[in-house]
Amino acid sequence: MGVYVRPCTHVREPQRPEVGVGSLELAVQAVPDEHLSSLKFVFGSSAIQALDLVDRESVTLISSPSGRRVYQVLGSSGKTYTCMTSCHYCSCPAFAFSVLRKSDSLLCKHLLAIYLSQVMRNCQQLSVSDKQLTDLLLMEKTQEA
Ligand SMILES: [Zn+2]
Repeated sequence: MGVYVRPCTHVREPQRPEVGVGSLELAVQAVPDEHLSSLKFVFGSSAIQALDLVDRESVTLISSPSGRRVYQVLGSSGKTYTCMTSCHYCSCPAFAFSVLRKSDSLLCKHLLAIYLSQVMRNCQQLSVSDKQLTDLLLMEKTQEA
């Protein structure tokens, strides 16, 4: 741990099939090396994992006509987490444990991925109806219960 010469190249691994490469890909902003080092310093391994999520285009902003905005992040395990940046919340276990309970992290990799995808312009957008967004939030709650 801690010996990271090049924290993250934020480049797609060559062995990954290049599917769905569209104009979004071109819009992705490169992160300067010194910023990557800072990210790694502040957020530890979460920074690398978050950048990986951004690279995989795992972040989706879901908005509805009433102005509600919810993020969904497809985690590395294939599970989707619901996040709200307005109140700084993520539904993942790491957030509940490390951020809320132990207070030894500022955020989880999903929230960090959202913030990074905003500045790197790599956030997917999805517009749904108010009803659909309500259903989505209720579904999340039912799953957790
Ligand atoms: Zn999370």
